[in-house]
Formats: sequence, structure tokens, C-alpha cells
Amino acid sequence: MDDARTGLSEEARIIPAWAFVVAFVAFAGIQVVFHAWAWPREHHPPPAVFRVLLPIFAGAVLAFFALLVGYVNRDAGRRGMNRLGWTLGVIFIPNAIGFILYFLLRKPLVLDCLRCGARVSRAYNFCPRCNHALHPACPSCKRAVGAADAFCPYCGATLTARA
Ligand SMILES: [Zn+2]
Ligand SMILES: [Zn+2]
Repeated sequence: MDDARTGLSEEARIIPAWAFVVAFVAFAGIQVVFHAWAWPREHHPPPAVFRVLLPIFAGAVLAFFALLVGYVNRDAGRRGMNRLGWTLGVIFIPNAIGFILYFLLRKPLVLDCLRCGARVSRAYNFCPRCNHALHPACPSCKRAVGAADAFCPYCGATLTARA
């Protein structure tokens, strides 16, 4: 289970600023498209209430979509998942199936320390309770490295002795 699950407002805080910008531009753009382009070309325009509400609804859906893409982009990173792959996935897999897959398959935010069993954040490299290395780390600069790496990609230290 996901013990580190937090409130919705807490979660919304990880949405990056660019997603809010995209959401705002999308919302405003939809209003312009409907009011400056679509409605004037209608020979039998729908009632005024509908002409106002439809663009607002469509804009809100699009803005929500942009914010959700921004959320997945950040959330995948802190869960140790492929950020670019999932961001493109939720954008291009139609009918929100990308989002459904993401929320079904996303890894928990916390994992159990293999040495002391403490529940620790996936973002940590070392267990805060027992100093156990949670991910393969460079012995020289302590940054996380791939399990198969021969050299540290950050400082160039030789990693072969590690295994
Ligand atoms: Zn530990
Ligand atoms: Zn290093």
C-alpha cells in the first residue's frame, strides 16, 4: 500500500509551472476559437447560455488534461519510473487509457529498507535509519548509478570493484 499518500492539495503542489501555463493558454485558446471563429460562422447558433458554457466546459477539460500531464511528468520521476515515456504515453494513448494505465501501474512512493525494514522514500539513496544503500551508488560521489555501470556517469570513478 501507498503509505505516503497525501492530500489532493499536497499532490497538486508537484505540478510544474509549465503545466499551469499550458492549461491557461489552452483554456483561453478554446474561448477564442469558439467566440471569434466557430460561433460567428454558425448559421443557426445555439442559445446564448450554450454558446458561453460549451467553450468553458471544453476549456476546463483541456486545462485539466494539461495539469494531469504535468502531474504524471513529476510523479513518475519521484517514483523511479520513466518520466519521458509516461508523459508521452498519457498524452498520446487515446481515451485517457494512458492515465488509467499510469495510475494502475505506478510504483509506490515508499519501499522497505532491505536491511532494517524501515519504510523509506523511493527518492532516497540511503536509508535514513541504518545508512543502507537503497540503490546502487557511486562509492566516490554517492550519487545513484545503474546496476550494470562500469564507471560513475557523474564523477568517472570505477565501479567494477563495487560488485
Ligand atoms: Zn535501513
Ligand atoms: Zn561518482
